[in-house]
Amino acid sequence: MSVADPETILFISDLHLTPEQPARAQRLRGFLERRARAATRLYVLGDLFEVWIGDDDPAHDDTLQALRALTAAGVDCRVMRGNRDFLLGRGFARTTGCVLIDDPHLVHLGGEAVLLTHGDLLCTADRAYQRFRRWVRNPLVKQWFLWHSRDWRQRFADDYRRRGRAAMASKPAAIMDVDPAAVRALMLKHGARRLVHGHTHRPGDYTVTLDTATGQRHVLAEWNATTGEALVYAGGCWRREPIGWEHA
Ligand code: MN
Repeated sequence: MSVADPETILFISDLHLTPEQPARAQRLRGFLERRARAATRLYVLGDLFEVWIGDDDPAHDDTLQALRALTAAGVDCRVMRGNRDFLLGRGFARTTGCVLIDDPHLVHLGGEAVLLTHGDLLCTADRAYQRFRRWVRNPLVKQWFLWHSRDWRQRFADDYRRRGRAAMASKPAAIMDVDPAAVRALMLKHGARRLVHGHTHRPGDYTVTLDTATGQRHVLAEWNATTGEALVYAGGCWRREPIGWEHA
C-alpha cells in the first residue's frame, strides 16, 4: 500500500522544440498554461529543445515566458538537460524560475525511490555516442564553445545537426535503445525500483528484472505536431495522459 500522497506530478520529455515547428511549442504552451497549473510539480526530462546554443539563445522566448508564468503560479518545475539541450545553464534557470537537476536524479514519491534520467547514458551499445557525450559534457569544452559568438555557435549547431541526421540513419536500431544491463545496474546502484526516462522515443511501461524483485521502467513519449503525452503520478498511482489539442 502506498502512502496517500497529495502531490500531482507530471513528467514530460523530448519535445525537441525548434523555431521551424511552431505547432509543438504552441502545444507545450497550452499544456503549461492549463494542465500543468493543476500539478504541484513538473519534470522535464531532457530534450525540451532540439538545439540550445547557450542561454542567450533568443529562439524560444515564448516558451521561456510560459515556463516563467508556470513557476510564478507556484508550480515547482524541474528541468534535466538532454543530449540536445545539454548547454542549458544558469541563465535559463534564472529566466524561467525552473530548477536544473542532474542526470540521473533520485526522488522519493509516496515512500518509493524513483530514478529519473534522460536516457542517453543507458544507450551504452553506441560507443561513439558515449565518447561524444563525455566530450561535450566536459566543462572546458562547454566553456570553449560558449566563448564563441552567437552566430558562430548557431552555424556550428546547424552543421552538427545535418551531419548527425546522416550518422543516425546509418546506425542499427538496436544500439539506439537502452541496454538492459545498464538499466539494471543504474537502478540497483541507486536502490530504485522505478525508473523514468525519455530519449529513445519508444514509449511504454516495461518490467525490469532486478536482483530479488521486479521493477518498472516508464519510457516517456516524444512530442510531435499531432501528439503529446505526459506521465502522471497522482494519488500514489502512475498513468499516461495524452496531451491533445484541447490543451493548445
Ligand atoms: Mn535525447
